[in-house]
Amino acid sequence: MTLPENAIEAHGLVKTYPATKTTPEMKALKGVDLVIPRGSIFGLLGPNGAGKSTFINILAGMTRKTAGTVKIWGRDIDARPRDARAAIGVVPQEIAADVFFTPRESLDVQAGLYGVPKAERRTDALLAAMGLTDKADAYVRQLSGGMKRRLMVAKAMVHNPPVLVLDEPTAGVDVELRRQLWAYVEELNHAGVTVVLTTHYLEEAEALCDTIAIVNRGEVVACESTTSLLGRLDRRAVVVTPGAPLLTAPDLAPFEAKLRGNGDLVVSFRTAEAGVEQVLAAVRAAGVQIKDLRTEDPDLEDVFVELTSAKPVAA
Ligand code: ADP
Repeated sequence: MTLPENAIEAHGLVKTYPATKTTPEMKALKGVDLVIPRGSIFGLLGPNGAGKSTFINILAGMTRKTAGTVKIWGRDIDARPRDARAAIGVVPQEIAADVFFTPRESLDVQAGLYGVPKAERRTDALLAAMGLTDKADAYVRQLSGGMKRRLMVAKAMVHNPPVLVLDEPTAGVDVELRRQLWAYVEELNHAGVTVVLTTHYLEEAEALCDTIAIVNRGEVVACESTTSLLGRLDRRAVVVTPGAPLLTAPDLAPFEAKLRGNGDLVVSFRTAEAGVEQVLAAVRAAGVQIKDLRTEDPDLEDVFVELTSAKPVAA
């Protein structure tokens, strides 16, 4: 069988939640086109309420779309819902622990739900990959939060899907565990699994994803490689540590000046319009003594803020 070029293809995807007595109709997705290439680690980024979970729930078969088409691994979710669902594993945001099962039992039950024959189950390998071999026969309620989360990833992988979706995988997870999960995601990806993740953490998307889509108010506002997204901004900043503390940021128009919590003055400029010299001249002209200074390149946060705040408020 030839492999599909794209792991996921959504075209004109619309989701409208009907009005209720207390809430108006909500257009959560307004005609989303998203193509997720096979083999990528794809980040879906956006502020709260952007429509990320709605998109993922449609992929997972948990929410019905209003209009548009979706293919998972080349399988249309309307025409071949079972085949489409077999191609995807979803790790939900909330930890739903089966308190009465051990991790081994939990994986077996899940494999049973997906109709994976006993001989083809990879329970031990999954437990080992998730660092849960020691806890294979402990009750799930005895596991730490991090272990439970790893068990959720293992559960999503029991049927060996070529596409793995992680909804906010590291929300509320400590730094060490976050790195462990990233390492595992990268390992899976090297083994050929296409990974889609939603995240609030720009750092996470920057570290892990080769391609990023930014969603805002139900629309895709950017979708490109992480490097090109970062390269899109010609903004840089000069960071000045003032000789004497400043109470407020001086007006350095046309440059934008902000004070950081540590007292540093951050002046951003467009490289096409000005250089460091002009920024420094403006800082000096405002009477600020310069104790120290450095420049900063834009990070994903700048791109994100620029793309999600520039849009006019939707009607
Ligand atoms: P995100 O995951 O990016 O935070 P969601 O997909 O959860 O965004 O939500 C998108 C919009 O749809 C939000 O305005 C949210 O309030 C609304 N929404 C989500 N789920 C429902 C639902 N079951 N019923 C009505 N509105 C919903």
